[in-house]
Parts: sequence; C-alpha cells; structure tokens
Amino acid sequence: MESSTQLSLPLFEPLSFDKLLERRNLSHDLAVTVNRRLKRGWRVIFPHLNSTRTLIIPPYLIDAPEEVKTALIDWALLPCPRRRTKVREIRQRRSLLEQEIWRYVESLPCAHRRTARFDPQTLHGKTAGHTFDLREIFDSVNDRYFNGSLQAVLRWGSEGSKTSFHTKKTDLAGTHVDVITIAGVYNFPEVPRFAIEAVMHHEMLHIAIPPVKRNGRNVIHGREFAAAERRFSQFHEWQQWERECLTKIIRRMKSRHKRGR
Ligand SMILES: [Zn+2]
Repeated sequence: MESSTQLSLPLFEPLSFDKLLERRNLSHDLAVTVNRRLKRGWRVIFPHLNSTRTLIIPPYLIDAPEEVKTALIDWALLPCPRRRTKVREIRQRRSLLEQEIWRYVESLPCAHRRTARFDPQTLHGKTAGHTFDLREIFDSVNDRYFNGSLQAVLRWGSEGSKTSFHTKKTDLAGTHVDVITIAGVYNFPEVPRFAIEAVMHHEMLHIAIPPVKRNGRNVIHGREFAAAERRFSQFHEWQQWERECLTKIIRRMKSRHKRGR
C-alpha cells in the first residue's frame, strides 16, 4: 500500500537495474545497457539460448520506478517457448509487461509515444487457412529442419496473392521480428501439405541465412541458400507442382474472379 504512493512521489532513489538484478540473483542472466540513440522502445539481445542476455534501454528508462524496471527485467528474461502450448502463455505475459512499461513511458512529459509500430498481436489466431494452419506448418518444419530454433510471426497474403515473402519489422517494444507472409494462392483446398511446407521452408531459410553483400549487391538466394533449400525432402516435387498445378489454380481463380464481377 505504501508502495503505490511511491510511484508518483518517490521518497527514495529508485533501485538501479544492477541492484535489482543482484537482489534477484540474476546478474549472470542479464546485463542492462543504455543506448542514447534509442528513441523508442527497448530491446533484448541474446546470442545463444543460455548465454547472458543484454537489455538495451533508452536514457529515459534509467530512472524508471522499481515496478517498471522489474517489468523490463522480467520482459527481457521471458523464456523462449519450446512447446507450442507455452507460446500463448508467454505471449500473454509479454503483452502484459509491455503494457505496464508503456503506461509509464506515455506518462513521461516528453511523450515518447508509440507510433505506427507493428503489433504482432493483431495477427494472433489468424494463421488458420482452408486446410492448414500456418503455425502448425511452421512448427513442424522448424522441428524437422531448424532444430526448433526459429521464431516468426505468420500471416496469409491477401486472397489470390502470388508472392510469399519474409520481412523484418519492429514491434511495439522496438524488437525486430521476422514476419513470413504466405501467398494467398497457397490457401486453397487443392494445395498439398508438402507444397505449403516447402514454401514455408524457403521463407524460413531467409531468417536462417540472411542476405550477404557481394560487390555492393545484396545476394538473397546465394549458393548456400540454394544448397540448403534442396535439403527439403520434397523439394523437386514442390518445383514440379508449382509449375504444373499452381498455375492452374491461379488461372481458375482469375476466371472465378471475372465471373464474380
Ligand atoms: Zn526467397
């Protein structure tokens, strides 16, 4: 009860991040650094699953109240979900923590407002298609080919769209997220599972094998990429299927569209 007044009327210097980490015995799990150029949000870096993470905060969070610092620490130490059942739980927890931190940030006089940031939550639960759920496809390909190490936000492209692609976006907290969009033409009952898996595998490779600069040009589908792509067990069936069947689906879709008009 005393602590609720402390937020608006700080009687004590709020504990530093280091002190808080020390008190919770987390000094080996997390380091906190300030980035003066960070204008909005905050982010966490973790090079490996079990190494020390680094929480990067903008200057205006250094003197945040203890509750907000605790929320930031908890946010930075959220576990990477290894099971699908855990994903939702962790996502909800993350969202609650972010709300708490933003409430504070938006109360600051120099309003560091969130702007047109990408909110992955808006796509939550929209991965189910006619026959297949992109989340389920992603998880199974992730397990089989990437040791379950990749993470991405998934969405269907608009109806009839022909291109699947991977982009990087920045979410509300300032964290970079990988977004995979699967072409709308793949969302048809006639599309076999291996084809969706193959296109998903291709987009996931863009996360695993980022583009490299060569002679000033961005090489996206380089030699390493092409070799990795062939590791997909039904790669050739997929290529053949795209040539023979996908074009038919696209043609049929066009005529259906014309009739509908
Ligand atoms: Zn590609």
